[in-house]
Amino acid sequence: MKLADIAWKTLAEGPGERTALWFQGCRLRCGGCCNPQMWTQEGGTEWDVEDICAQIKKQGCPSLVLLGGEPLDQTLELPTFLKTFRKQYGTSSNIWLFSGYTWEEIQKDPIKKQTCALCDMVIAGPYQAKAPPEFRKWIGSSNQTVHAMTPDARDYLPRWPQNEYSFELTVTENGIALNGWPI
Ligand code: SF4
Repeated sequence: MKLADIAWKTLAEGPGERTALWFQGCRLRCGGCCNPQMWTQEGGTEWDVEDICAQIKKQGCPSLVLLGGEPLDQTLELPTFLKTFRKQYGTSSNIWLFSGYTWEEIQKDPIKKQTCALCDMVIAGPYQAKAPPEFRKWIGSSNQTVHAMTPDARDYLPRWPQNEYSFELTVTENGIALNGWPI
């Protein structure tokens, strides 16, 4: 699995404390994308599924947010990772996935559809700079659609924060990281 970046504990990329995994590589290339350095298939770090599961366990934050880059472009590695991860944590983890593919495109592709079924919440659709985000926290543009895949996720929908944004500055050994800003 090829990852561009990891935040082992962030409060800015979804509800609660999460491990954020940014995937390397995206074929969609939306205008105004805030992570164009993650478009190329080159770069990033290759992670073995067992190693990333072990590292997440060691860091102690088993709720995930998957973003990118485009997680659903890694059609072999991502489902394998999610199945392995779910085996370890079952429903005690909570997994959110942000994809630039529309929900219709995902439904037409059996692997993408099965991959989304392993998550709790899926936010689908390309970033559109001309479609403001309607004040939904974490969502980049108003065309993007939200899909609750589990009862827990459906329970969360009425509590989705509106009119509220947050961002997080983290000082790391490589510099300063800014997380959570949707545009
Ligand atoms: S899908 Fe995401 S990473 Fe890919 S171009 Fe669009 S906004 Fe950027």
